[in-house]
Amino acid sequence: MATMFSAWQDVLHRVATATQTAGRKAGSVQLIAVGKTYPAACIRELYECGQRNFGENYVQEFVEKYDELEQPCPEIIWHFIGPVQSNKSRWVAERAGWVHTVDRLKIAERLSIQRPEPMPPLNVCLQVNVSGEASKSGVFPAAVVELACAVRELPRLTLRGLMAIPAPTQDKEELARQFALLCQLRDDLNRQGFALDTLSMGMSADLELAIAAGATQVRVGTALFGVRDYSNKGL
Ligand SMILES: *Cc1c(COP(=O)(O)O)cnc(C)c1O
Repeated sequence: MATMFSAWQDVLHRVATATQTAGRKAGSVQLIAVGKTYPAACIRELYECGQRNFGENYVQEFVEKYDELEQPCPEIIWHFIGPVQSNKSRWVAERAGWVHTVDRLKIAERLSIQRPEPMPPLNVCLQVNVSGEASKSGVFPAAVVELACAVRELPRLTLRGLMAIPAPTQDKEELARQFALLCQLRDDLNRQGFALDTLSMGMSADLELAIAAGATQVRVGTALFGVRDYSNKGL
């Protein structure tokens, strides 16, 4: 059985190889370990290997893991990567280092107001609907500039970049197209005076494609922890 350490090394190796193949600077892509549905003990094990950035999708599960791991794993940087419902935004604002899934102004405003004063501003990414599916969360590409301009004004948030979850498909060209669109939107914003340094895209199955397209953060669950059991959701 592969140990957690060897799975972690394998993923780091994939990230490093893809970064080099893309002609990008070593270390320019950060690995976020996505722990949804896995118990806190798994996260602690990976933390002890040396991983520091962790992602969670469900507020309830995030809060429970945060509270359990705050003492033994004080250096964790938590990335919230799931939908933020208004009535739970405070729990996220009080705990996360990053929120990747801001897709409307109302949520951004709540997070800014609720960010406790002693903490540094909350790093946020705007989630963009790059696949154009009506059912998907994320702001549509045509509305990104307007949202970015509004979020930039919020005092307790730092707008860092864009995030996307492409439509599930095996079609590599289609995936590459969606990743390239996110990169282009980020570059457009930077030409308009933003200084966005983050592109959060790529998961276990497609991190190489995402890195080739400019990802600076990849969000990986399955390749680190194994196949998820969704009956553990919201543990
Ligand atoms: C679950 C999840 C991931 C990780 O997906 P894997 O395929 O398990 O690597 C990444 N990003 C988001 C938003 C997720 O919900």
